[in-house]
Amino acid sequence: MDTYARFPVELVRGKGVWVWDRNGRRYLDCVAGIAVCTLGHSDGRLRKALSRQLGKLQHVSNLYRIPEQQELAAAITARSCFDRVFFCNSGAEANEAAIKLARKHGNLVRGISDAEGPLILTAEASFHGRTLAAVSATGQPKYHQGFTPMVQGFRYFPYNDTAAFESLLAACEAEGPRVAAVLLEPLQGEGGVHPGDRAFFARVRQLCDEHQILLIFDEVQIGVGRSGALWGYETLGIEPDAFTLAKGLGGGIPIGALAVKRHCDHFRPGDHASTFGGNPFACRAGLTVLAELGRRQLLAHVQLVGAVLASELDGLAQRHPTLVDGHRGWGLLQGLVLSPEAPAAPAVVKAALEQGLLVVPAGTNVVRLVPPLTIKPRQIRRAVQLLEQALLSLG
Ligand SMILES: *Cc1c(COP(=O)(O)O)cnc(C)c1O
Repeated sequence: MDTYARFPVELVRGKGVWVWDRNGRRYLDCVAGIAVCTLGHSDGRLRKALSRQLGKLQHVSNLYRIPEQQELAAAITARSCFDRVFFCNSGAEANEAAIKLARKHGNLVRGISDAEGPLILTAEASFHGRTLAAVSATGQPKYHQGFTPMVQGFRYFPYNDTAAFESLLAACEAEGPRVAAVLLEPLQGEGGVHPGDRAFFARVRQLCDEHQILLIFDEVQIGVGRSGALWGYETLGIEPDAFTLAKGLGGGIPIGALAVKRHCDHFRPGDHASTFGGNPFACRAGLTVLAELGRRQLLAHVQLVGAVLASELDGLAQRHPTLVDGHRGWGLLQGLVLSPEAPAAPAVVKAALEQGLLVVPAGTNVVRLVPPLTIKPRQIRRAVQLLEQALLSLG
């Protein structure tokens, strides 16, 4: 269907940070399937682990115990503040699980009846996915247009705005408990690469604690090493009660997850399910990605190359002050902020493609770079050179 405004390029092969189109033209891939291909393309270790798994067992129902799934849950809980994990297949689906969990929490813990209706507070310019509840949680009216009525029970406030959050919470709670959860990205990716503010998040954490409201992080894009820490919440210095993962977790194999602390481990048999979720093949991918992050010391690597990327983007901004306002981001999720006089981000992305560089817009005026975590410093420098050529090509 006509759901994507696609570039007229057919990508047929990849290796590391490079992809090739049908005509044999090579591109430096700073999209990585939008923050998905954590280990780059066609990674030897991932290939081997997945081939071995294919020869053993691909899929069985969640009617049975699945050792790979238990192992991946253990790998996530051992490395995070969480205790239990539910597996699904995508970011939107992980957020759907989180939304259902939040509603059950509102009912069980806060005594909010279905008649009153539990509320979930989310941020403007957020992005939580395209299924009906996830897109309702997304605080961007352009994604709602044409699809009303939206799923009820979401209220929005400006990201990083403590006063606005406090007053929305007070208004929602004026006549008693109504708010089940606050759902936030630690760094807003799609909405324009806006990093979370520590003081704001500390206050949100405090208020959620006071009211027994769940604080849920959507780490679908920033999680699994992209920030330079394993999880985005580490950079903010607080722990959420639950978080969602997807994109980078499977390194290109679809997998999503909702992880929770024990106190909000509310799902019971029959509450939620997924046919494909957490099958042996997808979980093998997740296990391999997490193992390789450790084995190759990729967190330290992301900190290093993330700093190189930030400083290269800084140089670009300084050389072109009329076109570039600056850059934002953590680790290998960085955005080049274009000035109001510059061409719009989609035009820059198209010009970059013509230069042999894949990048992706975030909002109208930000060019987002989310390369494989394995990218080398010289490849980062090359990417920023190509981005500069793209900007100059637009005159
Ligand atoms: C991409 C993304 C989603 C949606 O993930 P899908 O796998 O496309 O459903 C949700 N939240 C965030 C923060 C994302 O970046």
